Amino acid sequence: MNATPRDHEFLTRVLALAQRSRDEGHHPFAAMVVAADGTLISEAMNASSADRTAHAEMNALRLASQQYGPAELAGATLYSNAEPCAMCSGGTYWSGVGRVVYAMSEASLLELTGSDPENPTLSLPCRTVFAAGQRPTEVIGPLREEEARAAHKDFWRK
Ligand SMILES: [Zn+2]
Repeated sequence: MNATPRDHEFLTRVLALAQRSRDEGHHPFAAMVVAADGTLISEAMNASSADRTAHAEMNALRLASQQYGPAELAGATLYSNAEPCAMCSGGTYWSGVGRVVYAMSEASLLELTGSDPENPTLSLPCRTVFAAGQRPTEVIGPLREEEARAAHKDFWRK
């Protein structure tokens, strides 16, 4: 499957939210969970808190999971400005969200963050995590890498 016009619409929104996350003093990450009919279920930025597991995707998935079970989320899509890390891919799997669309690859993010202790990138493709599951998760990405890099420009201390 290729990205749909709706996918691009939500990627545009998630890229803008990632920039806002940076502008508000958080790491430049954002995610949204969108129902099959295009209804926005949840959106989140990275939280700068003591909780180091509060990645944007986890935050958005938790909000979605508090409203809907796996059967209802099977048709939903997780949009993220960067490829979900192994933890967030696991979170996607356990929430039941059946589709992921991301902008920048984990490999590109690693190039940007280097060894910055603020983001010691866990470089494992999300497709590898999903392939270990008991049901398929559709993944589309990377898309619009250059655009996605903009929010990260000069942010990380490599
Ligand atoms: Zn993550």
